[in-house]
Amino acid sequence: MTSRVYVSQDVVVRFAPSPNGWLHLGHAYAALTAYDYARERGRKFLLRIEDIDLGRSRPEFVDAILADLRWLGIDWDGEVIYQSQRLDSYGEAAGRLKDMGLLYPCFCTRSSLQAIQQTKGFRQGPDGPIYPRICSHLDKDEVAQRIGNEPHCWRLDVEKALDLTGALTWHDDLRGEQVADPAVLGDVIIIPKDNPVSYHLAVTVDDARDGITHVVRGQDLFASTHIHRLLQALLGLPVPRYVHHPVLVDETGSKLSKSRGSASLTLLREAGANPYMLTSRLRKNIFPVGITLSKV
Ligand code: GLU
Repeated sequence: MTSRVYVSQDVVVRFAPSPNGWLHLGHAYAALTAYDYARERGRKFLLRIEDIDLGRSRPEFVDAILADLRWLGIDWDGEVIYQSQRLDSYGEAAGRLKDMGLLYPCFCTRSSLQAIQQTKGFRQGPDGPIYPRICSHLDKDEVAQRIGNEPHCWRLDVEKALDLTGALTWHDDLRGEQVADPAVLGDVIIIPKDNPVSYHLAVTVDDARDGITHVVRGQDLFASTHIHRLLQALLGLPVPRYVHHPVLVDETGSKLSKSRGSASLTLLREAGANPYMLTSRLRKNIFPVGITLSKV
């Protein structure tokens, strides 16, 4: 009798790194968590390179990501997906949101926002200060006059969007049923000033396009899911299940990052570190001194 590996094609998981820097231990943990979630269940695992930040994405980071993942023993189904090759579909989705009257141009600059923050202060959200909706109050004439002359981004009018969709829910496998609360992040940017599309729109469009059924990612993106759920409802996209896993943090409770001195995987790989040892320790939640998992 021949044995067969059962591969369920109807469940799809992905890892979606942004090539804006070298991967470190935190990325390795996230990649392994998503990979194991897929493979332990005989499921499909995709690799999507989120290279939409034109200023920060670099080809050498992409090459390093592919080499680091292979070194860790992580393989993926099909071709690597690149968001930079899908800009038309994001433009189309943004156009639909504009046609629905849900995006408004925002002319605020970093320095004008800083000045307001210093005098009035902003409401703080989980990812930083919440945009105080200054440009949502501009009248049509002012917008018409400024739009051709001033750099601007486009923001989602979350209140208006929610009026349209009504209450929404989504499911997190670790925290259970969630009522979507997109206001926690405020009127997020959908089309940045100097990039073709924001993370929020691109990831939402792509999770649907790639047939992702289970979004397995770090809990630092938990709040973003409220926005993604809203965008799914507005664009008529399917709603995946979510697994927001704990992330690696340092002694101060901050997420690991290269700038905080966490060694890159590339450095470890080139220094001849043993990838089997590394992945087996990560899988058993054994981390270097000073590194722990965030609380869920
Ligand atoms: N590209 C995002 C990042 O590197 C992750 C996207 C996601 O998993 O939703 O932080």
